[in-house]
Amino acid sequence: MPTTTIQIELPSPAPGTKRMLQVHRYGVLGARPKAYFQAAIHADEIPGLLVAQHLLCALEQAQAEGRIAGEVVVVPVANPIGLSQHLNGRLLGRFDHEGTGNFNRSFPDLAALALERLRGRLTADPAANVALIREALCVTILNHSLNKEADVLRAALLNLAIDADYVFDLHCDGEALLHLYASKRQRDEAVALGAELGAAAILLEEEPGGNPFDEACAGPWWKLRESLAGEGPIPLACFATTVELRGQADVNDDYATADAAALLRFLQRRGIVAGDPGPLPEPRCEPTPLDGVDVLTAPAAGVLVYRKRLGDWVTSGEVVAELVDPLGEPPGAARTPICAATAGLLFARMTERLVRPGQKFCKVAGPEPLSYRQAGKLLED
Ligand SMILES: [Zn+2]
Repeated sequence: MPTTTIQIELPSPAPGTKRMLQVHRYGVLGARPKAYFQAAIHADEIPGLLVAQHLLCALEQAQAEGRIAGEVVVVPVANPIGLSQHLNGRLLGRFDHEGTGNFNRSFPDLAALALERLRGRLTADPAANVALIREALCVTILNHSLNKEADVLRAALLNLAIDADYVFDLHCDGEALLHLYASKRQRDEAVALGAELGAAAILLEEEPGGNPFDEACAGPWWKLRESLAGEGPIPLACFATTVELRGQADVNDDYATADAAALLRFLQRRGIVAGDPGPLPEPRCEPTPLDGVDVLTAPAAGVLVYRKRLGDWVTSGEVVAELVDPLGEPPGAARTPICAATAGLLFARMTERLVRPGQKFCKVAGPEPLSYRQAGKLLED
C-alpha cells in the first residue's frame, strides 16, 4: 500500500463532468531525497502509463519490505484531459482542444514569480537556501491563480513536483529508440540515467524554450542562481528529465518491466530506495547537444519513403528519405531526396507516411550544434 493516495479534482469542464489526478506517495512524507514520476502528460504517449504500473508494483514491494528511505511520488495518469480527447476514433492527446496549446509547454516560470519573495533572504548555507527556495516555489505555485482546466492541471502537477530532488516525465516519440532530454548543467546525472535505461541518445539542452515540465521543475535553480548571484550559494537541487520511452506502439510488458527496473535501480543508487542495484551498465552513447539534433523537414506535400531505419548512423548529406509526389509526371519520376545535415544517429521518426510542407518527420542526433537550430526554439510544437 502507498503511504497515501489522494485524488486532486480538476475544475469541472461541463456540468455533470469532472476529472481528477490520482497521486500515490511512498515512503515517509517529506523524507529526502524525493523522486517524482508522471506518465503521459502528452496523453497519446502510452508507454509511460504501462511503465508507471510496473514501477508502482516495484514500489509496493519496496514499501512492504521497508526499503523506501526517501519519498517517491507517482502520478500514473498525468493528463486525464488529453486522454478524453478523441476525434474520428483517434486519441489526440498532445494539444489541449480548449486552446491552451501543447500540454507539455507553458508551465509557470516559478523563478520569475518567486524572485522578489527570495531577494535579500539567502544565507551562506547552501542547504538552508535550498529549503528556503523550495518553500518559496511551493508558496508561489499555490498562490498562482488559474481558471482553465488544463492550466489548473499544469499547476497541480508542478505543485507535486517542484520540491523534488529528481523528476521523471515519461513520454515517447512517434517511432523511436529510447532517449532522454536533460539540462547540460546536469550532464552526470543524465549520463547515469541514460546508462541505466540503455538510452540510445542523451540530448542535453541549454535553453529548450516553451517551458516544458522538466525545465519548469529544474530551471528555477539555475535561473535563481543567476538572478540572485552574490546573495548566497544556490545548488542545482532538482534533476528533471524527459524520458522518451521509444515509440507510441512500443507498449509491452517486456519493455515496461525493464524500464521500471532501471528507474528503480536509479532510485537505489541515489539512496531513495534501499537495496543493491548492481554495477551501473556501460552507457550506450555519449551525450549530444539538443541543438545538434538535425530535425528533417518535408519541403512539400507527398508520400514519405524512408531510406534509413531507426538506429542507423547517417553521414552529413546522406539521403534519409524520399518524398514522392503521387501526381508527378511521368509516374514514378517525381521523387525529392531529403538529406541529413549532420552525421549522427537516426533515433526518431514520425509515424505517418504522408507529409505536409514544412512538416518535421525525423531526428538525427549529431555531435555538434547546428547553425539553423535556435536556443529557445529547440522543441517541436
Ligand atoms: Zn511527449
